[in-house]
Order: sequence, then C-alpha cells, then structure tokens
Amino acid sequence: MTRCCRFCKAPLSMTFVDLGVSPLSNAFLKPNQLSGMEKFYPLHAFVCEECFLVQLEEFEAPDHIFSDYVYFSSYSESWLKHAAKYCDQMTEKLSLGASSFVVEVASNDGYLLKNFVQRNIPCLGIEPAENVANVAIEKGVPTRSVFFGKETALHLRAEGKAADLLLGNNVYAHVPDINDFTAGMKGLLAPTGVVTLEFPHLLQLIKNSQFDTIYHEHFSYLSLLAVEKIFAAHGLKVFAAEQLPTHGGSLRVYGQHAEGQGRPVEPSLEVVRGLEREAGFGSTAAYSRFRPQVEKIKRELLSFLIEAKAARRSVAAYGAAAKGNTLLNFCGIRQDFVDYVVDKNPHKQGLFTPGTHIPVYSPEKILETKPDFVLILPWNLKEEVAAQLQEIRSWGGNFVVPIPSLQVF
Ligand SMILES: [Zn+2]
Repeated sequence: MTRCCRFCKAPLSMTFVDLGVSPLSNAFLKPNQLSGMEKFYPLHAFVCEECFLVQLEEFEAPDHIFSDYVYFSSYSESWLKHAAKYCDQMTEKLSLGASSFVVEVASNDGYLLKNFVQRNIPCLGIEPAENVANVAIEKGVPTRSVFFGKETALHLRAEGKAADLLLGNNVYAHVPDINDFTAGMKGLLAPTGVVTLEFPHLLQLIKNSQFDTIYHEHFSYLSLLAVEKIFAAHGLKVFAAEQLPTHGGSLRVYGQHAEGQGRPVEPSLEVVRGLEREAGFGSTAAYSRFRPQVEKIKRELLSFLIEAKAARRSVAAYGAAAKGNTLLNFCGIRQDFVDYVVDKNPHKQGLFTPGTHIPVYSPEKILETKPDFVLILPWNLKEEVAAQLQEIRSWGGNFVVPIPSLQVF
C-alpha cells in the first residue's frame, strides 16, 4: 500500500519521527484487564514533501478512538481561564449578541460555550463522544453528539443555521479526514462569519522537542503554511494568526470565506508566516532535524531515572495525560522507574497507564508516600502543578520535567 498525504494525496515517504509502536494513549486499563492482550499501533509521523503537512501514517483506526473519552477539559484551571478570556475577546471583536450564532466543534463538556450561554448568545456544541456531550447538556449547553464534517454542516444549514463564529480548539489536528472537516467549516460559516481554530503549533513542537504531543488521536501536526494551503483548497482564507502560550505554544488562526471583501488581513499573519519562513518550513531540512532531538531527550531522561533508582530515590509522576503515555511508552518507563502516576481526574484513578501499566491514584498519594522526585508529565502545566504540590518541599522533594530538556527543580 502506498502511503499518501491526508490532505493533498501526494505519496508520503519522508519520516518526521518514528516512535515505534504504542497503545492508544487514552486506553487506560482496569485492574482485570492487566493480564489481557493489548493492542499496539505504529506511531510514525511523516512529512508530506508537497504540502509540508506533518501527519501520522494511516493505521487501522479502531471505531472507539473518540468515544467514551476519559478526557474532560474542565479539570485544568488555566485552560478554563483561557476559554473565558477567548469568549470575552470574540464577543467584543465580532460584536456578538442575541442574534448571533456560535458553533463549537468538539465542545467537550461545554466548558467554553457556557460562557456564551451566560451572555445569552445563542450557541451549539458539537461533540462526538456521547457521554461527554450529555455532561454539557446537563449543564444547559445545547450540544449534539455527532461527528463534524460536510454532512453535519449540510444538516445544520437545512435547519436554517449558519455560524457567525465557528470555533474549534484542539480539534483540527485530531480529525482523520481534514478535507471533509474543512469542507464542513466552509459549509456552515455564515457569509460574514469567522472561523477560529487553535492547535499546537508545529513551530513550537520542533523548537522545543515536544515529541510527546504525538499520539494516535492526533493525526496532523500543523503549521500556518499547511493550514493556509488546506483552507485555500476549500474556499477559505486565513486573515490573522496569533501565537498563544497554551499547550506548549499554540496558534490561533482566524479564517473567513475566500470570496468577497471580508475582514482586512491583520499584521499578525505576516509575523507568523515570517517565523515559519525563518525556520525553513518550506523545505524538508527543517523537518529532518527533529529525530535526533527526540533521541537526546530519551537518553537524558533514562540516565536521570537510572541514577535516581541506583541511589534508592523514589519517583512518582504527575498527570496521566495523553502526552505522558507517549513519553512513557517511547522511553520504556514502567514501575521499574516510576512507582505510580497521580491525576486529578477521578475517571482515571484506579486505572493503569496503557502499555506501561503504572497505577493511577489521586494526588493525595504524593502526600502519603513522600517521593523524592515528582516527574511532571504535562510539562505545559509545570508552574501550576509545582504550585499545587509545593508541599513536597517539606520533605526535600524535587520536580522533574523532561521536555524541552531535562530539568530538576
Ligand atoms: Zn500533502
């Protein structure tokens, strides 16, 4: 089978990074599943030499990849603040009011749209995971449990709905069929409507060696360069791009219909284009230097853990997030190095990490067992986590962050 680019269909042959094989990052195990077989899938990222979209190769994706997600956005305080600020900004920038219509794709448990509900701005969430959609509905956020794409857009249009603001946070990178999704945005957007998408910026991924943001549910690793090409192919155009600190460095792009006058291009667009040009995103060399950086991080982290264990120091990890599972599997870290992982999300407590079988407990476990080191897996939240767990200083504990390079503090 010839691999081809999920956007432009050109043959895919250039490796961005090969992380071996790994289970789905959210496939946490119940105690009674530990002795069963576990499915591992290749985790191999390629870069398209035609459009420069970095992407995972197509693999035999299970149907349940998005259903019954154990992830609820509402558990991170900094992310909730980010969402509330976004709603303030958009309400003002686009003069949203009672006659506007806001649609969020992958609206999760309604953590963002509830801000629009409070302002009496009509909105609709689209959330494929039914259990998560039901949580949003219970909170009073109108939500439909469907996949978003061209067909869903047509259905909504037939009901007379058109989006003045169509937003997707951390979803664009997760859609297997990026063409169908983009056609859906084109289809649902009101004539003067604005699309905003937030996604982790490939520029930061490469610059800061964030290889652990590569996992199976995350199909594309996006640059402005690639997104502008995809938008253009579907009659949309980007008119602004903002760099955000979230998720280790994200990009928020603003798009509108390509036809018609539209909003003026903002200076921010050329700023980000310039940064990507400088990084050499228009040629393959920029992408080939990633792999050696990743291998260096693996060596640094394993050296640290080997030394810590040799000195009889105990290590616990914080945050059973998707990115943690990529790191643990790629580095081969099991209970031989890390005693347990803690997570605030009660849905994950009592389970075991996929592939590596490390038990997940509530954060109180750290206060009970007083580990010498706490390895923070979601490094993007390291300040927040360190502040919450400052108690570890009372027994001389230290924090460890492996990315962008090993740091003990
Ligand atoms: Zn391509």
